[in-house]
Amino acid sequence: MSVVADLTVLGLLGELDDIGRDERGGWTRPGFGPADLQLRAWFVECATGIGLDVVADRNGNLWAWWGAPGPDSVVTGSHLDSVPGGGRLDGPLGVVSALVAVGRLRASGFAPIRPLAVAVLAEEEGSRFGIACLGSRLLTGAVDPLAVLPEGFDGLDRDRAGRDDATLSRIGRFVELHVEQGRGLVDLDAPVGLATGILAHGRWRLTITGRGDHAGSTRMADRTDPVVAAARVVLAVEEAALAVPGTRATVGRIEAVPGGTNVIASRVELSLDVRAEDGGTVRAVVARIAESAALAAARNGCGFAIEAGSWSDEVVFDPTLRSQLDAALGGVPALPTGAGHDAGVLAAHLPTAMLFVRNPTGVSHAPEEDASEADLNAGVDALEQILRDLAS
Ligand SMILES: [Zn+2]
Repeated sequence: MSVVADLTVLGLLGELDDIGRDERGGWTRPGFGPADLQLRAWFVECATGIGLDVVADRNGNLWAWWGAPGPDSVVTGSHLDSVPGGGRLDGPLGVVSALVAVGRLRASGFAPIRPLAVAVLAEEEGSRFGIACLGSRLLTGAVDPLAVLPEGFDGLDRDRAGRDDATLSRIGRFVELHVEQGRGLVDLDAPVGLATGILAHGRWRLTITGRGDHAGSTRMADRTDPVVAAARVVLAVEEAALAVPGTRATVGRIEAVPGGTNVIASRVELSLDVRAEDGGTVRAVVARIAESAALAAARNGCGFAIEAGSWSDEVVFDPTLRSQLDAALGGVPALPTGAGHDAGVLAAHLPTAMLFVRNPTGVSHAPEEDASEADLNAGVDALEQILRDLAS
C-alpha cells in the first residue's frame, strides 16, 4: 500500500521544485552535488514508500525493485541530475513517471510475472566530469573509472566502480520516458511518441591561422585576418548541413587568439558538432565542411586545420521492443532524437526503447522546457500500459 501522499506526476514533480533551483529560474543539479544527493534521497524514500526495494550499485545507479531481480526484468527510469540552468523535466520526468506508473500498477492489484524496477542512472548530463551518461557508461564498461573519476572523489569509490556484469544481467529490457528535446511531436500533433534511434554524433576542432597585427596601422588590403575567414567558415558549416536534410551542424564556441579589441587575431579556434541519422552521413558532411572551410580560409590568406574529437555511432533502438510498445499503445508516431541518453548507452547490451512526451516549446536544457498536464498524464498512462504489457 502506498504511503506517498500525492502519487501523480505533477504531485511528485512539485516535491522536487525547490531542489537545486537557481536564481535565473532554472535548475542546477550536477551529479553527486548537494541537490542531486537530495534528489537521490527523495527517490529512495518515495520508492520505498510505494513498496519497492532500493539497491545502489557500485556505479552510483539506484534500482528500486518490485520482485526478485532477474534477467527477464522490465526496467524503466531516467536520471535526476541536470545541466546548469536546466528545465524541470529533463531526467526527473522519466523517474517520476516510472514511480507513478509502478505505484498505480501495485495499487490496482496487478500481478507481474516478471520483476519490475525503477532506475535512476547517475550523472547523465556529464556536468560534473564532462562524461555524459557516466552511470550507464561505468556500468557497461564503456569508460574506465580510474580515467574519469578524480582521486579522492567521495561520490563514488573509483576502485570499486566499473563494469558490473551482475547488475547488467539483471536488466532484461529498459524503457526510458523522457521529455522531447525538440518539436517533433508538436509538428506531428501527438502527445507521446517512440524513439527510433539516436543520431550519430561527432565533434571536431577547427583552427584558422592568420597573422596578428595592429588594428589601426594595418591597411585592410594588407591583412591576413583569421576572424574574417572564421565568419566564412561558419557560413560554410551552415551550407553543408542545409544541403543534407536531417543533418545538424553547430559552431558553438569561437575563440579569437589573443583576443584584443585593437588587435587583429593571429588564430581562431572553433568547435564543430555534427549529427545525422548515420555515421556515414556525418563523415560526408564534415568532409564537405573541411573542403569548403579550407577554400574559405584561403580567400583571406589563412591556413585551416581540422582535428577530430569525440565520436558516437548512431543508436538504433531494438525494433522488436519498439513494435511491441507501439502495439501496446495502439500505434504512436516514431521519431529520432539528436540527444544522447542512458537508453542509448544500454542499447549496446540489451533491448532498450524510449518514450517521448510532447514539449510545446521544443526547448530543452533551459527553464522554458515544458509539457502540459494532459500530456504528462498521457505519458504516464502510456508507460503504465507498456509496463503492464511487458510484465505480463
Ligand atoms: Zn535527459
